[in-house]
Amino acid sequence: MKQFKLVLPLVWFTALLFIAAGCIKTAAPEFSGEQALQYAIEVMSFGPRLPGSTASRKTADYIKSELTEYGWSVDFQDFNHKGVELRNIVAHRNDSPPDVIIGAHYDTRAISDQETAPGKQSLPVPGANDGASGTAILLELGRAFRNERTNIWLVFFDGEDQGHLNDWDWSVGAQYFADHLELKPSAVVVVDMIGDNDLNVYKEKQSDPELTAEIWSIAQSSGYGAQIIDTEKYAMIDDHLPFIKLGIPACLMIDFEYPYWHTQADTLEKISAGSLQKIGRTLTSWLTDHY
Ligand SMILES: [Zn+2]
Repeated sequence: MKQFKLVLPLVWFTALLFIAAGCIKTAAPEFSGEQALQYAIEVMSFGPRLPGSTASRKTADYIKSELTEYGWSVDFQDFNHKGVELRNIVAHRNDSPPDVIIGAHYDTRAISDQETAPGKQSLPVPGANDGASGTAILLELGRAFRNERTNIWLVFFDGEDQGHLNDWDWSVGAQYFADHLELKPSAVVVVDMIGDNDLNVYKEKQSDPELTAEIWSIAQSSGYGAQIIDTEKYAMIDDHLPFIKLGIPACLMIDFEYPYWHTQADTLEKISAGSLQKIGRTLTSWLTDHY
């Protein structure tokens, strides 16, 4: 009898603690680096993803079928650019405007202009890190958030990586998407080249400083400070710029210290589940905290 009196308030106290914890912070959905790597392997199996190519279309169909399975609505945004049919892929869970967009380009560069091996500069970049890694992050976010009510949009951009070829600009797909965006999200985060085994993602100089600080601080508190480094370095031309020009806070996560950039050696063995997981878990935590 005496003990019962003691135990009952304890039970209530414990229950209240759980309720309070629930109000303060919801657990982020589980992002698997291994699963993300599997997505990168699948995407790479289609071959170089040049805009308008069969491999590009197969990639788009694969993205659509995977995300549809996880409850997303997937639309293709098709448009013609200098005689080539481009395809952005837009995944959302309802018809509301997006609170936040997570974006990545899925195309691969048509030539390997950083390649030093003779005769190989004219070949397309395989694009394991440069194209497939960001695509894999978005696909795994789609799987991780499959049970969530969310206004996150996942947008896969075509035509990011053909700058200065056939008189193309960089970020053709993201520019088109931004030009046709009817309602502005509160933030855009672009991931590109974030799968390298030796991951070094610095704060990017053209990104929105506040948004960048939010994301990097989560990475530091998650123990990823050696890979997602709390120092500003590099100013990049990438898919975040069309949004910044519209006044939308946008941030680029990129590891530009990748020796295989735009070469024939940008292949699957250069990227790792561990690196993908650090980026993915930082983003799921940030998304869960803010959206
Ligand atoms: Zn590139």
